[in-house]
Amino acid sequence: MDFEQRYSDFPALKQEIVMLMGRGCFWKRCTFCDYYGDSGPDGQSVPLNRNVLQRVTGKYHRLVVLNSGSYFELPGETQAQIMAVCADQTITALHMESHWRFKDQVVALKKTLADAGIALHPRIGIETFDEGFREEVMDKGMGRGVTPKEIAGIFDECCLLFGMQGQSTGQFKKDLAIAKSHFKTVYLNLFNPNTTKVQADDNLVQWFIRNAPELKKDPQLVVLTENTGLGVGD
Ligand code: SF4
Repeated sequence: MDFEQRYSDFPALKQEIVMLMGRGCFWKRCTFCDYYGDSGPDGQSVPLNRNVLQRVTGKYHRLVVLNSGSYFELPGETQAQIMAVCADQTITALHMESHWRFKDQVVALKKTLADAGIALHPRIGIETFDEGFREEVMDKGMGRGVTPKEIAGIFDECCLLFGMQGQSTGQFKKDLAIAKSHFKTVYLNLFNPNTTKVQADDNLVQWFIRNAPELKKDPQLVVLTENTGLGVGD
């Protein structure tokens, strides 16, 4: 990934977004995912992340930190630098992503940041609330019996993924309704063909693209038809 693809000034959402390099996703099993490849040893990622974070100006007081995995898989030195950037650039809202299995760390980070006057907005990739599909087809690793209410008690943003073979418009509508009723912001990601064996369903993809303009009118939704829709990534 080019350096330029690691920072985005996103006025529509009034946020700066950085795509940092971590140690690599611990899970690496989600069948649709091949982006956990953006990882490296701390000797490579720490200086890279430092240069990316130096671009943050704090102009919106809102920073989104992404990496190909969970926030807690960033080197400790990078996590410390994020805290320093938040202090130096008067960031009052920090968004990050985490797998469900780090939920206790999310809760702890939220408390630490609240004490520092920073609101943490944790985001989770749920992809679908159809647990059978999520756990057996997608292999998300969240386990079964986790309720939307339980997830929303910790995370206030969620991502849904649509357009894979085996999904349906009916399930998408159910997922959207559940997500909207529990989460402050919902990211709707269209599945983009990648190096995994997972295939896109062209009919579902076209249906989503036809419906995207209407979905984009909803301020609770961020509709992404391309993986690079937030201005970061490749
Ligand atoms: S979707 Fe997230 S949790 Fe799943 S393998 Fe990819 S980086 Fe890891």
